[in-house]
Amino acid sequence: MKKLFLADLLIDGKGNSLKNAAVLISEDKIVNVGTEEEVKVRGNIETINTKILMPGLIDAHAHFLGTHSLDMSQWLIENDKVRSIRTVKEVQDMLLSGYTAVRDVGSAISLSLKKVINEDTIKGPRIYAAHRALSQTAGHGDVHSYPINTVRTEEGWIARLVDGVDEVRKATRENLRQGADLIKIFVTGGVMSEIDHPHQTQFTPEEVRAAVEEAKRYGVYVSAHAHGVGGIELALENGVNTIEHGMYLKEKPELLEIMKEKGTILIPTLIIIKLIAEKGEEMGYPDFAIEKAKEGYNTHIKSIKLAVSKDVNIAAGSDFLGPPLSPYGFGNAREIELLTHAGMSPMNAIVATTGMAGKAIGPRGKLVGTIEKGKYADFLILDKNPLENIALLQNREEIKAVVKGGEVVVDRRQ
Ligand SMILES: [Zn+2]
Repeated sequence: MKKLFLADLLIDGKGNSLKNAAVLISEDKIVNVGTEEEVKVRGNIETINTKILMPGLIDAHAHFLGTHSLDMSQWLIENDKVRSIRTVKEVQDMLLSGYTAVRDVGSAISLSLKKVINEDTIKGPRIYAAHRALSQTAGHGDVHSYPINTVRTEEGWIARLVDGVDEVRKATRENLRQGADLIKIFVTGGVMSEIDHPHQTQFTPEEVRAAVEEAKRYGVYVSAHAHGVGGIELALENGVNTIEHGMYLKEKPELLEIMKEKGTILIPTLIIIKLIAEKGEEMGYPDFAIEKAKEGYNTHIKSIKLAVSKDVNIAAGSDFLGPPLSPYGFGNAREIELLTHAGMSPMNAIVATTGMAGKAIGPRGKLVGTIEKGKYADFLILDKNPLENIALLQNREEIKAVVKGGEVVVDRRQ
């Protein structure tokens, strides 16, 4: 079945726009894109007229955890069937908000969610998932106040504790066996973990290389959670493809040059740090997390400004965790606006949440993110131009329709 989408203005997700554009699709893929004159169509064909057509949004850093708790240690002991069922609502909310793909960088639920979405049992974005993240013992993925065996044996936990090259290699292979689309490792401490600090480097070069080697053989990317410059350097030197957060990058600007040279993608996740710093107290977040977020946010914003000025590849990710602080679908797109506050043009901020977010998935994401021949027909239909007001992407009502694989899956057109 062929369909033709006509647009007064097409935004392609690579940094270009085109007036009076036409996109021809066949089944779930794009078969031709160009001006109306260029895209020749024979015979009768279903035609959809739009004012603005752009790629569906991609959240490049999410965790479908289904938790309603603000305390990381609670996620470990909350009933995981309850959490799994909650994520069904989370993915639906994401689709309603214009997200047609999500890159999940740590969750024991997401590969199962992906399966039920792909078999069309539930509606949701395409999911590309890392499965459980790899953490060293006492690292960001450890729950420091719990008995070590509880953390080690809980299969529903967001992370897996591994120490030494052999354990890293085995866990990477097991994640790949489960169907992971990318591999996630924690190479520094974090905000939400209790006793470590974002500055602290975790894992040895040999351990990082073991994950990278195994992932490479499978043709998938390795993503590293990294705030401090020691961890960022460790990741870059050992072949990691994407740096998540990058809070303290400004302390060593030469790392940005290396990232640019290697084509490494940075996913800042400004919005979650801002939310924890500003609302953490009233929401009852643990004190240690609020302190680290407050201390880090200003540096974070400066680091990302520097990265933008140096033209480093940046993708937009929310790091949302669920209600009450960050309910899925409501405000993930605030990250796109924050990137413009860090100096990105609205067009580049759209690239960050479409084409570049697709690239951050790695080879498994090669069919998403841009409106190009051969890619999935995943679009948003808008009446107003987001290049003139980037914040409108945060408002569901402004997204007149969501198209996934050529089908209109959300329709608010009159
Ligand atoms: Zn995260």
